[in-house]
Amino acid sequence: MTIPAVHHPAYTFRLPASHPFPMDKFRVLRAQLEDLDPQLQWYLPEPASRGALEMVHDPQYIDALFAGTLDRAAQRRSGFPWSESLVRRVRLETGGTCLTARLALERGLALNAAGGTHHAHADFASGYCLLNDIAVAVRVLLSEGLVERVLIVDLDVHQGDGTARLLANEPRAFTFSMHAERNFPARKAVSDLDMPLESGLGDEDYLETLAGVLPRLLDEQQPSLVIYDAGVDVHSADRLGHLCLSDSGLYRRDRFVIEAACRRGIPIAGVIGGGYDRDIDALCRRHGQLFAAAVGVVQ
Ligand SMILES: [Zn+2]
Repeated sequence: MTIPAVHHPAYTFRLPASHPFPMDKFRVLRAQLEDLDPQLQWYLPEPASRGALEMVHDPQYIDALFAGTLDRAAQRRSGFPWSESLVRRVRLETGGTCLTARLALERGLALNAAGGTHHAHADFASGYCLLNDIAVAVRVLLSEGLVERVLIVDLDVHQGDGTARLLANEPRAFTFSMHAERNFPARKAVSDLDMPLESGLGDEDYLETLAGVLPRLLDEQQPSLVIYDAGVDVHSADRLGHLCLSDSGLYRRDRFVIEAACRRGIPIAGVIGGGYDRDIDALCRRHGQLFAAAVGVVQ
C-alpha cells in the first residue's frame, strides 16, 4: 500500500541567506524522501481559495496579506518580509493540508511535506505562521459535511495557540497541545487539552506522558479524523525547543501516534510542523521520521 503525500516545489522560495527560517527545508525534505518513493504517492496541491481562508481568517487581513499592505509591525510579527512568493507559498501549504486531510479520509493516512502553521490567528500572523492551515482544513471539511468531529494532536514544541483560539467555539473540533511550557508563545491560549512539559524532557519521559494521554483521547473523542502536527522542534539539537528528544525518539513518537489512530480505524492527516536546526540535512532527516514511521505502520 502506498501512502498519499503532498508537496509543491513552491513550498520553498528564496529568502535572504541571513534569514533565520530554514526555508530550504521543504525542497531538501522532498529530495531526501526519494528513498521512500516506492512507498509514497505524491500529490500536488492547489492554493487555498479565498473562500476557504475566510472560514477562519478576517477578510481585511486576507486583503492586506494578498495585496502586500501588511504594515511593518505585522510583517515583523509574521517573521517574514512580504513577497508574492511568500503569499503563494502559504496558500499552497494551506491548500496542501486541506488536500492531505481529504486524502486521509479516503485512504486512512496521508502526509503533507509542510504545514502546521499553528500560531496564525484570525487577523494577524505570528511566529512564521501567516495562515492557519490546520484550522482552515478543519473548517472546510466540517462545512462540506465530510467529518463530524476532528481531533488535533499538536506535538510541536510550541503551543498551538492560534489553532486553539480559532477553534475555541467549535464543539466539533478538539484541540490537544503538548508543548514545552517555557517557550513561545509567552501568553498561552487555552486548548481543549493542554499538556505543558518541563524543559529538558527526554525520549522516555516524553513518550510515557504521550502514552498516558493519547489513547484515552482517541477513545473518548472518537473523531472522524485526526490532524497531527509532528513538529520536530522537540529535538535536543533544535534551536527553538527546550526538550531533548533524539532521532529515534521522534520516530517512536510519530509511529505511536499514527499507529494509535490507524489501529482504531481513525483516518490521520500528518503535517511536519516546526523544526529550526541550521543543519538542513539533519533537520530534514528528522522531518523524514514522520514519513518513515507512516511507512513502518502500513507495511
Ligand atoms: Zn514549533
